[in-house]
Amino acid sequence: MKLLDKVCIVTGAASGIGKEIALKFAQERGKIVIADLNKAEAEATAQELRQAGAVAMSVEMNVTDEQQVLAGVAEVVQVWGGVDVLVSNAGIQIVHPLEEFPFAEWKKLLAIHLDGAFLTTKACLPHMYASGRGGSVIYMGSVHSKEASMLKAPYVTAKHGLIGLAKVVAKEGARHGVRANVICPGFVRTPLVEKQIPEQARTLGISEDDVIKNIMLKDTVDGAFTTTQDVAEVALLFASFPSSALTGQSLVVSHGWFMQ
Ligand code: NAD
Repeated sequence: MKLLDKVCIVTGAASGIGKEIALKFAQERGKIVIADLNKAEAEATAQELRQAGAVAMSVEMNVTDEQQVLAGVAEVVQVWGGVDVLVSNAGIQIVHPLEEFPFAEWKKLLAIHLDGAFLTTKACLPHMYASGRGGSVIYMGSVHSKEASMLKAPYVTAKHGLIGLAKVVAKEGARHGVRANVICPGFVRTPLVEKQIPEQARTLGISEDDVIKNIMLKDTVDGAFTTTQDVAEVALLFASFPSSALTGQSLVVSHGWFMQ
């Protein structure tokens, strides 16, 4: 019961990594908010959690829309009285060679990853500050917060940027007991990655098997994908850590693909 009665907002929690974090936090008895662009899937996930005995609600939230972010956080505060943990996780992937990258797609990706992280943080911090209990802000980075890959210019740029944002939140939030950290997963087989496998195979003119073995998992120590459960364990560590000793950090969970 590491998160007993803590109000935890997880963005992008209707799928993949965010959903697994929501499940994990629910097992630790947090009050879970599934915040997602996909309203139907968000509510289905919240319902799934409630059926398993958890306390969960859904809010429709496009993290790039300031009004929707403010309205969603206000709804949570009205229902449960505050916010203790924010997991800014919503994200997408778009791959092109840099010289062909459409500007509109560059801006779309940066908006979801960076504007989304900024807007949700800005909306939650006043509630964490006002409660006197502090809080934990967790950003979903990537090995691409530390390392580059071909075809992923805006993604690598955004994921590096989240580390800067976390460090500022760690400094500004410290006197209110708010911590901020970044999780940096390697490849995890979620819909986001399943979509990339055929796309990269086409762009690079190689087989899907080669994309997995010779690109995605090439530098891991054991040729294995990171799992959603692995990432959720790290999220729980950051969410439940008992002091401000662990703040402003980024932790890579990637089967050794990237070693610091
Ligand atoms: P996913 O596609 O399974 O889930 C992403 C979720 O985000 C979906 O439910 C989608 O509806 C939601 N979403 C998209 N745009 C949104 C918006 N504007 N507002 C609110 N919600 C929105 O993807 P995933 O693999 O679980 O990725 C989650 C996060 O983990 C992303 O930030 C991604 O960059 C990061 N990540 C993923 C991997 C991986 O290998 N899968 C590795 C490292 C980091």
